[in-house]
Amino acid sequence: MEKPVIGLVPLWDEKKDSLWMLPGYMEGIARAGGLPLMLPLSADKTLLEQLTGLCAGFLFTGGQDVYPGLYGADVSPLCGPICEMRDLMEKALFSIAVLEQNKPALGICRGIQIFNVLLGGTLYQDLPSQLPHSVLTHQQKPPYDQPVHQVAIEPGSPLHELLGVDTLAVNSSHHQGIAELSPKLTPMARAGDGLIEAVYMQDRAFVWAVQWHPEILVPEENNGKIFGAFVDACGSEGSIRFHPTSPAKQGWINV
Ligand code: MN
Repeated sequence: MEKPVIGLVPLWDEKKDSLWMLPGYMEGIARAGGLPLMLPLSADKTLLEQLTGLCAGFLFTGGQDVYPGLYGADVSPLCGPICEMRDLMEKALFSIAVLEQNKPALGICRGIQIFNVLLGGTLYQDLPSQLPHSVLTHQQKPPYDQPVHQVAIEPGSPLHELLGVDTLAVNSSHHQGIAELSPKLTPMARAGDGLIEAVYMQDRAFVWAVQWHPEILVPEENNGKIFGAFVDACGSEGSIRFHPTSPAKQGWINV
């Protein structure tokens, strides 16, 4: 059977004026049986609709801070660099692929933040100043494949079902995080300071997001399983993709 094609939102390097990709994102998908494909950086609706037909699912990668105006906040001096094109692309892609067509999506780091914002939630623009009671390291120094804090996994959540463990040691490379959670997202894991570090959408086939970086930890079994669950969800979609006699579903007509 052909592997499900999974589109990755490209990373943007402002200094080099270039698009790029960290191999871990691709390896995580490939190890789980998917075919990773880096997308162009575009918010063109027609192009994104075509890409949504081409791809069985989408990985929303890490990256710059989300523009605070998207959740109605002024830009704090402590907010990091933003990438307007990624904000625009992800808003359009999420709308078409996830909200209209119910495609599987996995969000990592920035991914969990943009999902929350696009669904009406808000972010802390700078955790060290806005979560001063926290003693946790959320922005670690290299090496990034070393866990620096634990997350408690919500009993009964899909992540708990998948991993069968109550806690997970994770890496952490973020200075922003979920402040007010979207009512459309349900927590799956929290850090010891209360910060939400994993979520899912209850009314979608597979929309999960994590604040840590499983793509760097992926040889580790539990983080590999997260990619596995995502690619499996894309595979069930993909099985329709390659069998044109299957009943049509919404969003399937133009593929
Ligand atoms: Mn963290």
